[in-house]
Amino acid sequence: MVAIAVGMFLVGLTGGIASGKSTVSSQLKELGCPIIDADVVARKVVKPQSPAYRLILQHFGREILLDNGEIDRQKLGQIIFSSPEKRKLLNSITHPEIHKEMFKQILLYFIKGYRYVILDVPLLFETRRLTRFLTHTVVVYCDPATQLSRLMQRDGLSQEEAEQRIGAQMPLKEKRGLASHVIENSGSREDTHRQMLRLHTKLEDSMEFLVVRAVAVAAVAGLGGLFLCTVRMLVS
Ligand code: ADP
Repeated sequence: MVAIAVGMFLVGLTGGIASGKSTVSSQLKELGCPIIDADVVARKVVKPQSPAYRLILQHFGREILLDNGEIDRQKLGQIIFSSPEKRKLLNSITHPEIHKEMFKQILLYFIKGYRYVILDVPLLFETRRLTRFLTHTVVVYCDPATQLSRLMQRDGLSQEEAEQRIGAQMPLKEKRGLASHVIENSGSREDTHRQMLRLHTKLEDSMEFLVVRAVAVAAVAGLGGLFLCTVRMLVS
């Protein structure tokens, strides 16, 4: 992935439930930032008749379908919630397709001349599969009390239900500790917008795409050298 993303760098955006990731993501989109939403990609790759769709049907049966023929993601979610093995199986079907689709979209942005792409991934630090490809990671953070009340309000949940959902995730504080940038979203939207603008300027002005390009060129040159050495050894 890194080799083909030559000349551009990747930024991971994540948060906890109701910490404000979607809010920040749409603010970045409004500024024209290239964003790939992992949730949208995950829904796209299981659309009827796609390779992942067929494999899921093969392994999980037609009972996981909705009347309109689409996969009932909620039902599938319940099945894998109680069976780690089935979760593994489902991930082994969907993850390669998700990564392929993300890669395709990254490539398209690269061709269009973008220097960086933001990957909006809710479980960035939980799965850790993408982190090694990222130059920056951004966590949208808010304090626990604010997170709880915003979640209750947004999803119409009781305090107990909201606490349960927050408790099922990696603690937001832990994610904050793992990130290279933090957007503090406990305050007003305007305050968050200002921080987002600072981050945007930083990314736009960054010369890191040149570093990525230089490393890639050096790697290719190194491989070329190795190839020449091998040829020389073979012919001598
Ligand atoms: P996430 O995508 O992380 O789950 P959202 O962006 O949906 O979180 O934000 C959760 C809820 O809190 C939404 O209803 C959103 O409108 C609200 N919200 C987000 N940021 C702020 C803020 N700074 N001030 C007030 N409300 C906010």
